[in-house]
Amino acid sequence: MTAKILILPGDGIGPEIVAEAVKVLECLRQEYGLDVVLEQGLLGGCAVDALGAPYPEQTQRQARAADAILLGAVGGPKWEQIERPLRPERGLLAIRADLELFANLRPALLYPQLASASALKPEIVAGLDILIVRELNGDIYFGQPRGIRKLDNGEREGFNTMRYSSSEIERIARVAFEAARKRHRKLCSVDKANVLESSELWREVVERVGADYPDVTLSHMYVDNAAMQLVRAPKQFDVIVTGNLFGDILSDCAAMLTGSIGMLPSASLDRNGKGLYEPIHGSAPDIAGKGMANPLATILSVAMLLRYSLNRLDLAERVEAAVGQVLDQGLRTLDISAPGMTAVGTQAMGDAVVAALAG
Ligand code: NAD
Repeated sequence: MTAKILILPGDGIGPEIVAEAVKVLECLRQEYGLDVVLEQGLLGGCAVDALGAPYPEQTQRQARAADAILLGAVGGPKWEQIERPLRPERGLLAIRADLELFANLRPALLYPQLASASALKPEIVAGLDILIVRELNGDIYFGQPRGIRKLDNGEREGFNTMRYSSSEIERIARVAFEAARKRHRKLCSVDKANVLESSELWREVVERVGADYPDVTLSHMYVDNAAMQLVRAPKQFDVIVTGNLFGDILSDCAAMLTGSIGMLPSASLDRNGKGLYEPIHGSAPDIAGKGMANPLATILSVAMLLRYSLNRLDLAERVEAAVGQVLDQGLRTLDISAPGMTAVGTQAMGDAVVAALAG
């Protein structure tokens, strides 16, 4: 059956990097018979400009009908001052909530060719391969009540609510245990159970779900220690599962271990494997329109899309191998540049991946 893929280029460098990922999809269609139709849509600042909302109804209809979605990035200085509900980032939160994309999978994989790009010593990060599974629909980002209120003494107070129900914890825990089964069967659950009640429940439920996965070694770690361990000895981790807030921070920390934000893809999945795929970086307004952005994170997001939504592991591996090949050829965008390597722009990098795929 033909799979429908919705393409949401977004803002800033989004359109530039997504164009390269679309070339890869077109190549897979022509050379490998991948059965997909691509449709374009608007999300973020460009949607605010064209249709007055960051996640307009038109995009909502397209997203609900799609089997998978490929997103560039949203946001930029142009929309920073507008009222909060219209901000591009709200579009991202809205599409995740609307499609119930509750599981965010973020691999932090260090390509051996880029070991020197990490801020850490090569011996600490060489061979790094971590998967962070972050819950995406709950926690303090969505908890009610929230707001800014005036206290009796006249002072203002900002407040948010950290909350997790046991069913929300259970479904993300199951995704993480299943993922660990496909890897090295080690799962570390990260929380702050020594201080927070929502973490206390988190730990209890993860432990209970763990009884169904006796083949996976489960451990628990407090988030402050996890942050430290990620920098001290990151290779001790295989899969990490955590809530929305802690996952937001830890996954960025893990990303930096690899040296380039321009290399890392992500997937956000619903319970049926439908997913939104996007690079972990933002819209990089500082380099937008200059043809300098690294498209590899977006191209690797296509590989995740093939793996998790289209069940085409064979093609996912081909795309990942093609990325490895262009790195072997010494091609580097500015963010991963190194002495002796060949500097290329966004389009040349995309063309090289397509050539490696087609060759
Ligand atoms: P950013 O990730 O856009 O940029 C951080 C730094 O990394 C910049 O110097 C940028 O040039 C560089 N960079 C990012 N992606 C790159 C790539 N593919 N190739 C080369 N260099 C790259 O983060 P920021 O500057 O904090 O945010 C910029 C905008 O993006 C903001 O409006 C923010 O809200 C938005 N944002 C969106 C998402 C998303 O769409 N998922 C995520 C994070 C930030």
